[in-house]
Amino acid sequence: MSGEPLPGVSQRDGPFDLSVDILIVGAGACGLTAALAAREVAGEDAEILVLERDRSPSGSTSLSSGFIPAAGTTMQRAAGVRDTPEMLAADIQAKAHGRAYSPLVNRVAAESGSAITWLHQDHGLPFILIDGFLYPGHSVLRMHAMPERTGAALQAALLGAAANAGLDIATGLQVDTLFTGADGRITGVSALAHDGSRQNVGCGCLILACNGYGGNAALVKQHIPEMADALYFGHDGNQGEAVIWGDALGACLADMSGYQGHGSVAHPHGALISWALMMEGGILVNAAGARFSNEHDGYSEQAPRVNSQPDQCAYVLIDDRLLALARDFPDFCGAEQAGALISAASASDMEARLGFDTGALAATLDQVASAQAGRQTDSFGRDFTTKPALQAPFHAIRVTGALFHTQGGLDINLDAEVLDRTGQPLGNLLAAGGAARGVSGPDVSGYLSGNGLLTAITLGRIAGQRAGILATTKQS
Ligand SMILES: Cc1cc2nc3c(=O)[nH]c(=O)nc-3n(C[C@H](O)[C@H](O)[C@H](O)COP(=O)(O)OP(=O)(O)OC[C@H]3O[C@@H](n4cnc5c(N)ncnc54)[C@H](O)[C@@H]3O)c2cc1C
Repeated sequence: MSGEPLPGVSQRDGPFDLSVDILIVGAGACGLTAALAAREVAGEDAEILVLERDRSPSGSTSLSSGFIPAAGTTMQRAAGVRDTPEMLAADIQAKAHGRAYSPLVNRVAAESGSAITWLHQDHGLPFILIDGFLYPGHSVLRMHAMPERTGAALQAALLGAAANAGLDIATGLQVDTLFTGADGRITGVSALAHDGSRQNVGCGCLILACNGYGGNAALVKQHIPEMADALYFGHDGNQGEAVIWGDALGACLADMSGYQGHGSVAHPHGALISWALMMEGGILVNAAGARFSNEHDGYSEQAPRVNSQPDQCAYVLIDDRLLALARDFPDFCGAEQAGALISAASASDMEARLGFDTGALAATLDQVASAQAGRQTDSFGRDFTTKPALQAPFHAIRVTGALFHTQGGLDINLDAEVLDRTGQPLGNLLAAGGAARGVSGPDVSGYLSGNGLLTAITLGRIAGQRAGILATTKQS
């Protein structure tokens, strides 16, 4: 291989069509947060450019619910919620069974509150604290979102903040090649435009914010074989370029088998059914009308569990009380409008509607009612006593398990600098969000709700700050 160009990486010192101080690949939550932070640290004179493959930036950020966990925010204080970075770090590690990289977990937790408060106070993002229910594994209320409770609203708010900050985003440009100099440092990138033309952009420093490899079937098969046949529910742009380039550059990859799954995507309607329904008393049953897991373990690990049921499907079962809660979620309303909701006056009616054996669902509901009344222990270990039992009439939604996004990626240090296989920074290459390793460890069960946007926002900000320092150091 000596002397041959590596895939996606080639040597070039120039000339470039244009050169900037800080170049960012990807205009999702991570890239936009990084750009805002870089502008703040590097100042008005620094040239900062975001390259985005889509004509209209959306990313997985827009597909998400936009819920971001953070500890010690002004919104928590206003609501009287006591939370600390240590508590958040402990919850992250408890969910990851202690297998997430501790220094990164602690850094992300420590920066989470100030990142949200900064976006709120300095950039006008109207965050609210989500109340009413706790997601699995979170010990206090700490989910922050836009009032619309959608990732699309978060993406729009970040784009608005970037516009207000005068940041340049060049869209419709897919970066396919990284350029290095003779010393191995990144000198620029090449991007293919939709019309087939090319832009070669030089840079002093590069931030990869182009998310993970969930949309790359070959990489998923290689690193996460259990989800090779599963529905992929993230953005098409998650093609894994960051790890492909990084691998070619000699970067270390970490936690590559980790991912965010979800055990309740309405099928075939393709809409997210919030796990809040499970946390508040809903259950998941298979085509035999039986439960098959502790739903409170978390939604991520439910993805392979649901997919190991017949037809890779299960049914979310709720009642009128939970239906009212569900209708607070725009995604659920979309699923309902698309005809995903199956309602029945009684357990036996629901059995008939879903084609279950007579008495199968009634037996499951009896067991749940017994566990709820404290007469028997749930065989899967779920505590039913804290929420009311399900009451007729019932509602069901057919769901499948999906891959949302990958949690492995480029190994980074606490300043978001990409590390080589000896643990040394590669130089002027940074990565964050889905492009870098996350804080979920190497297993699907390690994903604590919100770990995705948590790292996109906090590490995006850290990467932007670091790039700003690198640019300023170069200028002075
Ligand atoms: C259905 C769903 C629900 C979710 N809900 C939540 C939630 O509530 N809370 C949470 O924390 N996480 C959630 N997540 C995960 C969350 O969406 C991601 O962790 C987060 O959006 C990652 O942000 P990012 O900026 O790294 O990536 P993205 O938002 O995907 O942005 C990456 C951008 O890079 C662009 N890009 C990619 N490759 C290139 C290239 N070669 N050249 C130029 N541009 C490129 C893409 O087009 C994209 O715009 C959810 C995910 C899904 C799919």
